[in-house]
Amino acid sequence: MSYENKLAILNKIKEYTRIFLFRHIRMDGDCTGATKGLQELLKASFPEKEIYLLDNQTSDYLAFLGKDSGEADDSFYEGGLAIVLDTATPDRISSQKYTLCREVIKIDHHINVSPYGDLLWVEEEASSCCEMIVSFYDTFKDTLTLNEKAALYLYTGMVTDSGRFRFRSVSGETLRLAGILLNCGIDTDTLYAHLYLNDFDVLKFRAEVYRKMKITENGVAYIHVTAKMQEKYNLSREDASAVVSALDSIKGSLIWIAFIDNGDGTTRVRLRSRFVTINSLAERYHGGGHAMASGATVYSRKEMNALISEADKLLGEFKQTNEGWL
Ligand code: AMP
Repeated sequence: MSYENKLAILNKIKEYTRIFLFRHIRMDGDCTGATKGLQELLKASFPEKEIYLLDNQTSDYLAFLGKDSGEADDSFYEGGLAIVLDTATPDRISSQKYTLCREVIKIDHHINVSPYGDLLWVEEEASSCCEMIVSFYDTFKDTLTLNEKAALYLYTGMVTDSGRFRFRSVSGETLRLAGILLNCGIDTDTLYAHLYLNDFDVLKFRAEVYRKMKITENGVAYIHVTAKMQEKYNLSREDASAVVSALDSIKGSLIWIAFIDNGDGTTRVRLRSRFVTINSLAERYHGGGHAMASGATVYSRKEMNALISEADKLLGEFKQTNEGWL
């Protein structure tokens, strides 16, 4: 199935001269790496084609990969091919201009709740969308050219979306494909410095998070990052949102949640878990996502408390009916 999908996509790419790449809102390492990586791969492989990545989002921690920008007049997209990467649902595509293209391809590794596009290649078990792009390259390596720049983009997506190759979705195939990228000569020292170094204020903020975090009876750890806290530590929304990872290693806490005030009365919810499936819980709160990494939105304190209670109940039931969790 996957080979047929890849071949159909390669044929579409060959057919078009103007190709537009799209990614999701709240850009992360994977959608950024996959779009920039595919752009570089296609530019190097088909120099005669026009490959555009018109996206005006910015992200501090990904700034080292270089900025993308721009938006063209509607007519410019007409007759083009849109390839949307790493985006489960059409409403999360960062520019709706993709609808102006003649054909749309979806390449994604999220649960396919909202199939869209004329051609779909979805692999829910892939650890990242970048992994899929490397596999695409590997399948057609006689036709495609991978350079060091593309390899860095794709590797960044692979390491960030797999928790540094730690998540269960990482397979032997993931590591084999990552090996292809490493063999291109990526400077991993510099890459990891970009990914790991923190501002002083961010670490002070983390200290406050550890003081203020709470845990429910059954072990759901959570933190509410208020607008006031974000102001006190001079945090970007991105820095504030990254806090969810601070709660990821508490023994017996199999679900952990960060609530981050958006500043408009709504609160972003980032849910993470080990062993327990949480995406249906996120779906009940205007969200969704992966089995063990989901996102949602709550609109009041009451809704926040309801979500925490539901998570606690879910974890209680899980602990009673399962063994071997930590
Ligand atoms: P986040 O905590 O925002 O990084 O989200 C974790 C995962 O859940 C991501 O892979 C998103 O694709 C997905 N996700 C986040 N928010 C939503 C949403 N509102 N609806 C559907 N999926 C979401």
